[in-house]
Amino acid sequence: MTSWKPESKEMFSMNFHSSVSTGPLYVCSCCDQLWYKHSVSPADRLRLTNRDICRYLQNKKSVDNIEWLCHTCNNHLKRGKVPPCAIVNGMKFPQKPDFFDLNELECRLVAPRLAFQKIFQAPRGGQLKITGNVVNVPADVNSTVNMLPRLSDDTGTIKVQLKRRLQYKSSALSLNIRPHKVMQAAAWLIGTSPLYQDEGITINENWLRSLQYSGNKAPNITETSNDEDEQTTSNSPEDEWTEDVAEIPAGVTDSMLTPPDFVNDSERQEIYNFAPGEGNRPLSVFRDQYSEEMAYPGIFLGQKRPDEKNRLRSVYYSEICKSELRRSDRRAAICVENIFFKAKKLQMKLLIGQSQIALRKNKMGNRTLTAGELKTQEGLQSLIDHDDGFRFLKTLRGSPPYFEKAKKDLFAMIRQLGPASLFCSFSSAETKWNHLLRILGKLIDQRNYSDDELNNLTWEEKCRLIQSDPVTCARHFDFQFNTFLKDVLMSELVPIGKIKDWFLPS
Ligand SMILES: [Zn+2]
Repeated sequence: MTSWKPESKEMFSMNFHSSVSTGPLYVCSCCDQLWYKHSVSPADRLRLTNRDICRYLQNKKSVDNIEWLCHTCNNHLKRGKVPPCAIVNGMKFPQKPDFFDLNELECRLVAPRLAFQKIFQAPRGGQLKITGNVVNVPADVNSTVNMLPRLSDDTGTIKVQLKRRLQYKSSALSLNIRPHKVMQAAAWLIGTSPLYQDEGITINENWLRSLQYSGNKAPNITETSNDEDEQTTSNSPEDEWTEDVAEIPAGVTDSMLTPPDFVNDSERQEIYNFAPGEGNRPLSVFRDQYSEEMAYPGIFLGQKRPDEKNRLRSVYYSEICKSELRRSDRRAAICVENIFFKAKKLQMKLLIGQSQIALRKNKMGNRTLTAGELKTQEGLQSLIDHDDGFRFLKTLRGSPPYFEKAKKDLFAMIRQLGPASLFCSFSSAETKWNHLLRILGKLIDQRNYSDDELNNLTWEEKCRLIQSDPVTCARHFDFQFNTFLKDVLMSELVPIGKIKDWFLPS
């Protein structure tokens, strides 16, 4: 083994730190996704050699004021094909009007679907995690917006709790909202969104009047409707709600001016409770075709994703998810709930696909399985005993058949190469990684933080940055690990001896 001088070790370490200090900031001019430097190349060569293909490029310049192309797009374009994730293939978020700067709860109040999830905060770094399933419930936008109080001031706020049921003590979300903004957004969505119109959500004259009254330009909507229809539904929790209003403590008007950090506010104040989904039956995430678009108006603005026939080539849902989360427009990646929604939907899609294949195979070992066998108790029991009934779960990360497969792979490796001699585990320390915080600052705040500023960030500010973009945090951890493996562990320096092979349960 060559003995290396301390200086060269220093050099390896410096190289590693310099390569992980740059994040996914390179924007592909074709698919508008964020990439690492090693995944992109300048677009000018392609522009020179194949002028025809340039109509698929968006002229987007990013790092060093250069137009970049990711390798995936580059390979497709070189062969004269449209990349599946290209913007021209319908992979673009609808444009957000300037006034549409709603917070999370304001978005929920104007959404025709509520995707309830149980989300917890991890103790370190405040990353969010989910337990259980996503429940997709239709919500009554019309009556929710009708219940909002008309404030004399456009910028006035009220404290609102979103609940699954009004009688529940716990709320799904509790934030300050601006009723005027919510009304304005709801009116705009109803006027422009085909999904809202298909759902039969109608504009209420009262909203328009109150918008006009406050001197703001009302959205241009010609459609009017009878005020009564949506509000008189049997599910409308109007009665309970008015009871709440009756308990308004004295000095209500003060509460309209509460600061956004109302958690610290010990004053008695009025809290509006909403349960727009109460009494409605949950719908399947699949059968309810546009559930995702309707649950997240802040991302999709009530617009459907293009149908298969409106795209230049077909794309899988998994490709759409990846593209939306890596998009240079970070609106989907910073919406943690949407990430969980996507993950759950993908997982279910995978399972349904696998179970359909399993049904079609109808084989057990090398003999055909008959319907008669399945009908008997013993037949079923033998399927379960031999794990055949669960085999289709193999592709689902974390399931027992999945680990069974990983174990087999590992044992095969041990048989070939002998037992492993070193075990490593790596974990992320986001709050201590200034280089990661700097990347997040660029992506979220569009700001270049200096070293001093990063060192002086409070714990809450660090958590805010980390929590805001879990996609970039996860990508960067993966990137750091791979760079460490390639440029340090497997390098000529051989810091822990020569590595013959390695196994990574992924
Ligand atoms: Zn690309």
